[in-house]
Amino acid sequence: MKKISKQGNHTHISNNEINSIYAKLKNEHATYLAQYGVRLPKKYSMKALWLVYLRKCRGKLVHKDTISEFVQSKKPKSGKDQQVRHLASDGWYVLNKGDKIPNQDKKIESGYHVLLTVENPKPNFLHKALKRAGRVSAQNFEQLKVTYDFRCATCGSIENKPHILEPTLITTLQQGHMNPHDKLTLKNTIPQCQLCNQTYQDDYVFNDKGRVIAVASTTPIIKAHDSVKQAIKDMLNNES
Ligand SMILES: [Zn+2]
Repeated sequence: MKKISKQGNHTHISNNEINSIYAKLKNEHATYLAQYGVRLPKKYSMKALWLVYLRKCRGKLVHKDTISEFVQSKKPKSGKDQQVRHLASDGWYVLNKGDKIPNQDKKIESGYHVLLTVENPKPNFLHKALKRAGRVSAQNFEQLKVTYDFRCATCGSIENKPHILEPTLITTLQQGHMNPHDKLTLKNTIPQCQLCNQTYQDDYVFNDKGRVIAVASTTPIIKAHDSVKQAIKDMLNNES
């Protein structure tokens, strides 16, 4: 990851350019981030200026002194010790000291910050937002898994950990079909481990807690005790 030098010489950004970067950020925020509760700082606030600077240098490591100098050039009364890391608490995908760089075996050095992307909130912020809002807030299967704490809805085994019932097996989560008679949309999906998904197949209907609420095929009836078959027969005869 490219590093922008620590020693002063912040890039000059004209007010016109600040306006245009802020407008871009506002747009990106509305498109990708507002739905998760990420906060957009007010234009020309200190936080907004940090964000503008990081947005201009997106994907590059910037030292906090460089950002502070830039802010001081616009707001001479602002202090030297500016807490740029707070952008991450507001949900922006800003990496701070000690944060792992995705897909790299490296952590962010002390004093540096990087805005990785504006198309996703910071993952831990996103996870909290999804968990607060529940399964209805999920936009894809990955997010749905987050709302279930990466557990199989039915047996509770955790993704990538040993399976609760078969510890020699590493749990994978699959798209469990809640009601096999309806299309497999996200609304009709629960995360299920490979064992639950295979065991129940398309023979049962599940609720969103992963519990069986009905049969979806004749297989469980064929396997049922004779008394159950007789009861079903009687029931159907009475209906007709
Ligand atoms: Zn399971």
